[in-house]
Amino acid sequence: MGRKFFVGGNWKCNGTAEEVKKIVKTLNDAKVPSQDVVEVVVSPPFVFLPLVKSSLRSDFYVSAQNCWVKKGGAYTGEVSAEMLVNLEVPWVILGHSERRALLGESNEFVGDKVAYALAQGLKVIACVGETLEQREAGSTMDVVAAQTKAIADRISDWKNVVVAYEPVWAIGTGKVATPAQAQEVHDGLRKWLQKNVSADVAESTRIIYGGSVNGGNCKELAGQTDVDGFLVGGASLKPEFVDIISAAT
Ligand code: PGA
Repeated sequence: MGRKFFVGGNWKCNGTAEEVKKIVKTLNDAKVPSQDVVEVVVSPPFVFLPLVKSSLRSDFYVSAQNCWVKKGGAYTGEVSAEMLVNLEVPWVILGHSERRALLGESNEFVGDKVAYALAQGLKVIACVGETLEQREAGSTMDVVAAQTKAIADRISDWKNVVVAYEPVWAIGTGKVATPAQAQEVHDGLRKWLQKNVSADVAESTRIIYGGSVNGGNCKELAGQTDVDGFLVGGASLKPEFVDIISAAT
């Protein structure tokens, strides 16, 4: 079975209600390949999830950018997986490098979150990626393997997981990985899954690339054998997100 192209838009901590409405209108008016060809998921900040969910075209889906590691309760400021399920938000991004770096989320904590979110019925975009220092030290594969292992140790079913390879040095910097650099890590991750999980999971799990993807560089990246889509930050707030969705064809 082929891996359906996946394009996620990570809006991060951006936007006013007016701006969000404008982005949704642009997406709703856009002509894009059909759902059979590309799965599109946009991830607004929590507070805008109901607005986006209720106004977004029905062939696109919404995602949260995070959720809590266990059942909700006395965790001030957190949003639980159960709440997302209750609002019929199907997806959640977990392990984004900004949260790993700024909020100290460890590999184990991210693995716990992925396991809990999946158990509640959410689908997960699980992010991995190395820093520039780690790349320059030659430890890229070790870093992403350790991040992936912390997830693999805690889950058995990968069908609702998309792995996002996002080199930290490429995020929000305009310094995109070359298609060859992306392909090398995606291939390495797929081989890791084959060896440590199963051939079937390696073959069917989508591995998407994130880090300064834009309308100009998406086609060439999408042409790489093991690049199954994108997680887009900055450009997902702009009309060029439509061109990135169209890179699926
Ligand atoms: P960027 O962000 O496209 O702005 O580099 C990607 C991400 O952080 O998911």
